[in-house]
Amino acid sequence: MLRIEHLTKVFPGGVVAVDDLSLTVADGEFLVIIGLSGSGKSTLLRCINRLVEPTSGKIFLDELEITALTPSQLRRSRKQIGMIFQQFNLVRRSSVMTNVLTGALGTVDAWRSVLGRFPAAAYDRAFANLERVGIPEKVDQRADTLSGGQQQRVAIARALMQEPRLMLADEPVASLDPATSHSVMKYLEEINRHDGITVLCNLHFLSLARRYATRVIALKAGRIVFDGTPTEIDHVRFQQIYGEEAVEVEIA
Ligand code: ADP
Ligand code: MG
Repeated sequence: MLRIEHLTKVFPGGVVAVDDLSLTVADGEFLVIIGLSGSGKSTLLRCINRLVEPTSGKIFLDELEITALTPSQLRRSRKQIGMIFQQFNLVRRSSVMTNVLTGALGTVDAWRSVLGRFPAAAYDRAFANLERVGIPEKVDQRADTLSGGQQQRVAIARALMQEPRLMLADEPVASLDPATSHSVMKYLEEINRHDGITVLCNLHFLSLARRYATRVIALKAGRIVFDGTPTEIDHVRFQQIYGEEAVEVEIA
């Protein structure tokens, strides 16, 4: 479904964040991207929905060339791509319901959403998505009164409002403790398995990659240095990816 051809991103100043990277992701995969800080994981994800403009290369979602879209075409096709972030990116002072509803902005008439009015069906869908992530009782609470794990689940519910085919998750559990990390990852697993949403997830910890990924790629200096199943990453592979000095840190 996703095809990346010779993608390169050079930031002003000359940093090559993604270096001639090619990758094909099949429908329904749960692809985890690992690599040291600075290896290009975030830049890769952000190129896919063009939060970052690639320097060269092409990205296709099925037959649609994302890298060739005009801004208005891009707005329409972005609905197919949900994204969640390490820092959740909720509107802190707004209610959980309002936050989830903003995920439907692209699907509701602009003038209605500007007035803060959504069709009843949007409220129903928002509530159903909060039920999906296990926190319907938080619907009227202010976002910043929730725990980190709950906030990330709200962010997942918000992304689900777009009914995406592809979910990009940029270190979604990096700010969370191990137990809470699993509670968030298991909802990503659920939408992958149950809804068939393809997931691309940047992760810092190999243990989480082993637990949730159907496929793992590792980046080093913007290039793919490993592509395979989680079980293929043994001690030797690990040191190639993270360097000789690295110690494998496992979390429960
Ligand atoms: P990761 O997510 O794996 O930590 P990033 O994609 O954030 O890696 O960064 C890859 C490289 O690109 C790093 O060297 C980083 O400093 C650089 N970089 C990222 N964003 C920018 C930016 N907006 N401007 C300049 N350099 C950047
Ligand atoms: Mg990053």
